[in-house]
Amino acid sequence: MSGWVRVVGLGPGPDAWLTEEARRALADATDLVGYHVYTNRVAARNDLRVHGSDNGDELARARHALSLAEAGARVAVVSGGDAGVFGMAAAMFEAIDDGPAALRSLDVTVLPGVTAMLAAAARLGAPLGNDFCAINLSDNLKPWSIIEKRLALAAQADFVIALYNPASKARPQQIHRAFAILREQRTGAAVVVLAKAVGRPDQEILVTTLGEADPNAIDMRTLVIVGAPTTRCIERGTNTPWVYTPRWLSEP
Ligand code: SAH
Repeated sequence: MSGWVRVVGLGPGPDAWLTEEARRALADATDLVGYHVYTNRVAARNDLRVHGSDNGDELARARHALSLAEAGARVAVVSGGDAGVFGMAAAMFEAIDDGPAALRSLDVTVLPGVTAMLAAAARLGAPLGNDFCAINLSDNLKPWSIIEKRLALAAQADFVIALYNPASKARPQQIHRAFAILREQRTGAAVVVLAKAVGRPDQEILVTTLGEADPNAIDMRTLVIVGAPTTRCIERGTNTPWVYTPRWLSEP
């Protein structure tokens, strides 16, 4: 029996945002590997072995998935959103790159998913309608000084900036510092969106400004979008305004 690994993004929440290809891989899998919050989102089956683990040590999880596949299992490795965006896909290739040569002949495929940034953008209108970037605010795997540099330069270059992992219980202060850096580069009127639990029953989307955004309202389920200078709101009464960034830009 020949095993495989499918690295599957589950989307930001609802099943409607799980791709058909991902759904098929989950149905064909014999083993499910991932952070337990994500493995719990996959319907239990008698013929599916679930290897849910705590957050962290993605490399160990990736090696485990590879060794199961080497022994003939069909393994779905799950991430939230898209597995390639701050998810398990890169950890899989770190494990293969560092591992024995035999791993290179394994059948490993990454399946695309809907990342949080795209889901949040769609809910708002079109905030990513011009050039944008995504920054992971967690300094678990990179120095905080690099994050500060990237924030400042992305703001200087007028990108729309999506901030993943903006805060957690262990890192409550970094989003305060991030806003301070952004406020040095952009006016207080810059559009800021706090998109919490997008697509889930407890979804909350707040459109505010860089001057008024409250970093204390941001948690690990929040995606922050900081608009470019051209990002605009279309007010519509008591409904959340539409937020969009026009496709055009004029010479500075
Ligand atoms: N691979 C995931 C991102 C993992 S990093 C993806 O592609 O979406 C985890 C961060 O993603 C969270 O801290 C949050 O910033 C963002 N996120 C994930 N799901 C979200 C959702 N439903 N609503 C808002 N933000 C979300």
